Amino acid sequence: MKFEELSALYRQPLFDLISQSRAVHLQHWRGEEVQRCSLLSIKTGGCSEDCAYCAQSAHYSTGVEREELLSLENVLAAARRARSQGAGRFCMGAAWRGVRDGSEKFERVLEIVREVSQLGMEVCVTLGEIGPVEACKLKAAGVTAYNHNIDTSPEFYPEIVSTHTFQNRLDTIAAVQASGMSVCCGGIIGMGESEADRLRMLEVLSNFDPPPESVPINCLMPMPGTPLANQTPVDIFELVRLIAVTRFALPKARVRLAAGRTKLSREGQALCFFAGANSIFYGNKLLTAKNPAADVDVALLRELGLHVEANQRGTAC
Ligand code: SAM
Ligand code: SF4
Repeated sequence: MKFEELSALYRQPLFDLISQSRAVHLQHWRGEEVQRCSLLSIKTGGCSEDCAYCAQSAHYSTGVEREELLSLENVLAAARRARSQGAGRFCMGAAWRGVRDGSEKFERVLEIVREVSQLGMEVCVTLGEIGPVEACKLKAAGVTAYNHNIDTSPEFYPEIVSTHTFQNRLDTIAAVQASGMSVCCGGIIGMGESEADRLRMLEVLSNFDPPPESVPINCLMPMPGTPLANQTPVDIFELVRLIAVTRFALPKARVRLAAGRTKLSREGQALCFFAGANSIFYGNKLLTAKNPAADVDVALLRELGLHVEANQRGTAC
């Protein structure tokens, strides 16, 4: 979709916007179903990149220590735990710029993916920059989706990262698309960007070919020690509007209400689900930040009459 169309949708009266986005949602999805994704940091901290929002960057003193890649046994134990709690997708994230074929760490990641993909959940990884060879090997090992967020508009991106470019991100996404893996790609709001930046980000995402299979919408979790530590929280109605417009821009994508849910009220989250969100990160921890407790989420979904996607049933709830 074009920026002007997205902008016109965004500026409608809120109830007009969300009733229309709900109608789009119901054309493509079962309105009561929500995907639950569990997230595990398999390699934490000490990252070479300077993303201004990230507690894992080695450029800032955030209190997050550099750790080694987790062992296969530890990752498998976490994946089994997530499955027993009802997760339908298991996402693994690594704090580094990227991985290259031939390196020991890439071989270890491939082994982890091969084992985790036997557990019956969708497998997603977010390993930073990769090229066509790495993408093909990850797909062959059993990865369902590769997460690589564009995070904001191309114009605002240099304000938040200087160690790599927006084009670097697009190149990785192109390699993932060419391999046949699904792309999971979204962004963060609340970093000081304008409304236009948020809609430009959606314009870029909606013009991906093929479109992303899932779109995480993160609200900035201001991390002490990072340049964005003192940002003010995102206004709930701005978030709801953006989710509704995301549903228009990417009708067939799972729209994930991702980081920042600990700051949202139950009512705010309910509005987001109504507007078009149909996926959440599930489990007490994100990569390093907090997430609502799993039992609190189960209770909220139950009270709203929402439940886990049909293809996720069969795992314990
Ligand atoms: N290093 C890899 C990369 O950059 O793609 C993967 C890990 S990175 C931590 C994954 C995503 O988490 C980022 O692209 C960003 O959207 C999100 N994220 C990280 N820190 C965040 C924060 N403080 N608040 C909200 N979202 C955050
Ligand atoms: Fe590193 Fe990813 Fe954090 Fe950027 S977002 S500092 S690349 S871990």
